[in-house]
Amino acid sequence: MNFSLFGASGGDGLAIDLGTANTLVYMAGQGIVIDEPSVVAIEAVDGIRRVFAVGRDAKILTGKTSESIRTYRPLTDGVINDLEIAEAMIAHFIEKAAGPQSRMSRGPEIVICVPSAATPVERRAIRAAAMNAGGREVWLVEEPLAAAIGAGLPVSQPVGSMVVDIGGGTTEVGITSMKALTYGTSARVGGDKMDEAITSYVRRKHNLVIGEGTAERVKQQVGSAVAESESDHIMGAVRGRDVSSGCPSEVGVSQAEIAEALRETVDHIVETVMAALEHATPEIAADVIDQGITMTGGGSLLRNIDKVLADETGLQVRIAEAPLTSVALGAGRVLEDAEFKGALCTA
Ligand code: ADP
Ligand code: MG
Repeated sequence: MNFSLFGASGGDGLAIDLGTANTLVYMAGQGIVIDEPSVVAIEAVDGIRRVFAVGRDAKILTGKTSESIRTYRPLTDGVINDLEIAEAMIAHFIEKAAGPQSRMSRGPEIVICVPSAATPVERRAIRAAAMNAGGREVWLVEEPLAAAIGAGLPVSQPVGSMVVDIGGGTTEVGITSMKALTYGTSARVGGDKMDEAITSYVRRKHNLVIGEGTAERVKQQVGSAVAESESDHIMGAVRGRDVSSGCPSEVGVSQAEIAEALRETVDHIVETVMAALEHATPEIAADVIDQGITMTGGGSLLRNIDKVLADETGLQVRIAEAPLTSVALGAGRVLEDAEFKGALCTA
């Protein structure tokens, strides 16, 4: 069976969702085969750098490494900020998915998602990274389009569909119609900003310095985009270092507190969506009233973010069935289904 739209290559194509927080790899004919944090641990000995760990193995080292080992997130701002490390990470995941011989043989054909706001230089960098990592041919697809396809929106129809993808580093807003992205925008706000907001709140209010992982955990466990009536009683425990005594300490934080900490970040996300709505043509706007907004990305799992967005826009908001995998599934569809060939670009 031929799963690839690239002719004779058979089922060796890969679709990659290179996210700021998580990288997913979809293998043609198989589905998602890799789903790991976009983290690389680098060991430097006598000025020579080498990859120590990638993905999950690297993320567990965050904040716990020695002098010689450091962890990096090569995509924190939504685009590649460290090309060399990003390339190493992409190469690692491609090899893991396609097998070690992939670099020696012809290599897999690759569809890779790019943020809609990526500049031509950044697009070339992402493409080059995938080529250097062993890709035989590399195609780019706009991330919001992949998200919309993966979320099951009617992207092939002449109907405007709006998707809001809240990732770690960025929030991408896209409107699709006729298998293309008719409007796309991206803001540097997402899950990471939420974690930072929680970290500074806990430091200010409780005199406690907490780590990135702790902030992320409390966000997921008790966080909410808006304080609910009972939110004073929903508590999470955070551990860190007391600012004055310097000693390890634990405090309880309520959902109401986390909602307060997150307010500015949530507002920024809402503003990004509002700005996109203002750019829609009247016809597209009419469709969006009909169809509502679909949310994808890990940030859409923040409690009540859908309600806040619905209240602020006056539109219906739904969260995709599997928000963390929508982009990878959509990119996989693009890879497998000739119908979407027009969505691909090489630069
Ligand atoms: P990216 O595409 O940028 O890699 P993802 O779509 O994988 O990002 O989402 C990762 C972000 O989603 C992280 O900031 C993570 O903390 C956040 N996230 C995951 N689950 C939840 C949850 N239940 N509540 C709030 N945020 C969440
Ligand atoms: Mg993403």
